[in-house]
Amino acid sequence: MKEINVQDITKVVEELCIKACTTLGNDWWQVMDDAISKENSPLAKDILKMLEENAKLAADTGEAICQDTGVAVVFLELGQDVRLIGGDLYDAINEGVRNGYTNGYLRKSVVSDPLLRKNTGDNTPAIIHTEIVPGDNLKIIVAPKGTGSENMSTLKMLKPADGKEGIVNFVLESVKAAGPNPCPPIVVGVGIGGNLERAGYIAKKALLRPLGQKNPLPHVAELEEELIEAVNNIGLGPQGLGGRTTALDVHVEVAPCHIGALPVAVNINCHASRHAEAVL
Ligand code: SF4
Repeated sequence: MKEINVQDITKVVEELCIKACTTLGNDWWQVMDDAISKENSPLAKDILKMLEENAKLAADTGEAICQDTGVAVVFLELGQDVRLIGGDLYDAINEGVRNGYTNGYLRKSVVSDPLLRKNTGDNTPAIIHTEIVPGDNLKIIVAPKGTGSENMSTLKMLKPADGKEGIVNFVLESVKAAGPNPCPPIVVGVGIGGNLERAGYIAKKALLRPLGQKNPLPHVAELEEELIEAVNNIGLGPQGLGGRTTALDVHVEVAPCHIGALPVAVNINCHASRHAEAVL
């Protein structure tokens, strides 16, 4: 059994918080270049170029891509043959978030109680999702989530008879209702199936998949193609100022569900499609 000291996890989480808030992945640059070359509106093209310049400046200077550095959402894939030593796992992760947001000069945006609304001052606690998986590795993904996009999340318990048409309509309604608020071009995560909480979880996890990569299930990939076409036909465009590039991608994840249910969740990411990962 492999032993991992939680102090090492703290260090890695600190680094991932800073990396995720300051640098975007190669996949993002590729889809943005592609979007710029396909965009017909001169204004939309200019905005996309400005967003690329902003991302380049952030990466070069180590400053945040956006002032809203969000809540730290941490996804763990914990191998069942890993033994954690040296302390409490979740305390270690929160220590890493505290250090990352402090040492990286990232905005602290978490309040301890949703009604009393006092800022915790260090961006903790993180929102931590843990999956137990085979093997002896620990994969850590940090995905800072700003609220401009998170507030645009939607969930609807469709009926099975609503079918694919109902799903497409709901996703389009959600994107239209979001308008410019999630700072387009957006990435749309769609979770279909499961139940109330599973649909939301897989919608968020869908945002972690590299941009441009389709779901391996052919019928789901086909739905993704249909959705990206429909979303980009809305005409909302970058920053909501018109154009073809409303979304950089639409990712759909599915899960088994009850015979009488068809839950659909939509979780949107802004142009700052931030996440960074490491494996211990
Ligand atoms: S939606 Fe994204 S880009 Fe817009 S303010 Fe929030 S974090 Fe920043």
